[in-house]
Amino acid sequence: MRIDLHTHSSVSDGTETPAQLLATAGAAGLDVVALTDHDTTAGWALAEEARPPGLTVVPGMELSCRWFPDDQPPISVHLLAYLFDPLSPAFAAERARLRDERLSRGERIVEALAADGHPVAWEEIVAASEGGVVGRPHVARALVRAGVVASVDQAFATLLHHRSPYYVAKADTDVREGIALVRAAGGVPVFAHGLATKRGRVVGDDAVAAMAEAGLLGLEVDHPDHSDEERAHMRGLADELGLLRTGSSDYHGANKTTPIGACTTDPEQYEALLAAGTGAAPYRD
Ligand code: AMP
Ligand code: FE
Ligand code: FE
Ligand code: ZN
Repeated sequence: MRIDLHTHSSVSDGTETPAQLLATAGAAGLDVVALTDHDTTAGWALAEEARPPGLTVVPGMELSCRWFPDDQPPISVHLLAYLFDPLSPAFAAERARLRDERLSRGERIVEALAADGHPVAWEEIVAASEGGVVGRPHVARALVRAGVVASVDQAFATLLHHRSPYYVAKADTDVREGIALVRAAGGVPVFAHGLATKRGRVVGDDAVAAMAEAGLLGLEVDHPDHSDEERAHMRGLADELGLLRTGSSDYHGANKTTPIGACTTDPEQYEALLAAGTGAAPYRD
């Protein structure tokens, strides 16, 4: 069994539609794929509809969150959520708030870039997103279209990284509140790429322990942005705290170079995750 529990479609910041993404998953020989777009479940129905026979699809999401350390500014953390009830009202309202937050912050980033002479326009970026949840990758693609940079990676390396003068933070969900919302909706919360230092500041072990206390159920151990040492550390924390371990590609289509299935989840861990999710069922034969 080959199981990839973290992918993005064009419903957020991937480049393939949910149907194309599932075709890619099937062609790569995956047996199970989770669709985990940022802050939206809009792809779930499309994925259920387009699911090829033989492939199991786990409905999921990646929630934009923050951890608030005592002595530093907030740290951005991503929370994967699986098999939750999409109609759970408090969680649905929080997702809607996050999407609004993305729109106002995206517009501020683009206005600052344009004011410095970079030929990008917010209306064009929103139109190009085709109703998807807009993030920095959409701004990156606009910079590529405008010829400012050669690639999405180069856009992040030069203008869009979190230390750039153009970076604008979002008022993301307090991660402990996010965990509570996912659990209240019958879902399984898993801390995504928790030690990926290349993405910015990461939280300490104390924060992971506090998240476990708040109801976290798993850690993403194997992820393309984790070094071998970071994976080993995450694995140790999962064992210590009694959490599930996942492995996933974080596939984003052409917005990243990582292929689907680049990291995978142990079947036993996957079965335990399925058993813990009560708010929605996987789509399967
Ligand atoms: P946002 O949610 O708008 O802050 O944008 C974060 C998203 O940007 C992540 O989910 C990734 O998809 C993408 N991203 C972050 N860093 C990079 C990078 N160095 N290269 C390409 N994509 C990136
Ligand atoms: Fe993303
Ligand atoms: Fe993420
Ligand atoms: Zn992701």
